[in-house]
Amino acid sequence: MVVGKKQSETALRHFLDAGHRLFGENRVQEAWDKWPYLKYDFQDVRLHLIGPLQTNKVGYAYGLFDCIETVDRPKLVEKIADYLPRAERYLDLFVQINIGREPQKSGVLPEDLPALMDLCVKRGVPITGFMCIPPVGVDPTPYFQQMAMYQREYGVKHLSMGMSGDYEKAIECGATIVRIGSLLFGIGS
Ligand SMILES: *Cc1c(COP(=O)(O)O)cnc(C)c1O
Repeated sequence: MVVGKKQSETALRHFLDAGHRLFGENRVQEAWDKWPYLKYDFQDVRLHLIGPLQTNKVGYAYGLFDCIETVDRPKLVEKIADYLPRAERYLDLFVQINIGREPQKSGVLPEDLPALMDLCVKRGVPITGFMCIPPVGVDPTPYFQQMAMYQREYGVKHLSMGMSGDYEKAIECGATIVRIGSLLFGIGS
């Protein structure tokens, strides 16, 4: 996945012209500023939300994205469940797991994952993947392995993990999507 946050529409167009079709954005508003035009020109693009989603922006996200990777709390599951009957498009939904149990990061805590997955089943919210951002400065391999364990346990198709600094390790552990920003656009992205 090409992570296009803070990148201009023109910069993203280069990747689209080169044939790339999977992109991620971490802010709903910023994505709405850039992507309607790009998606009009490249209709087979898939755009993933990889940043936090406020419950009052669910409809807004459903209007643009193809996947929300950051389902992480009961209130958001409830809002999505309430919205689904009105949804005009199918979106893939991933649960973000706070795999390092870091207070500053979003994502469901590992010990709260079973309850959240139960709620998703109960409310008819289909989960097709898990996503994580492991702690920086330590070997991410044990975290990636734990993610792969959850993937097997819950039988979800996708594992979105690995960024510019650790994508090779993530792939070794079974990532199906690596999210790459700075390696493609340079420092500061
Ligand atoms: C910015 C971002 C990335 C890309 O990180 P890089 O280290 O620049 O490759 C991946 N995932 C999320 C959620 C991000 O916000």
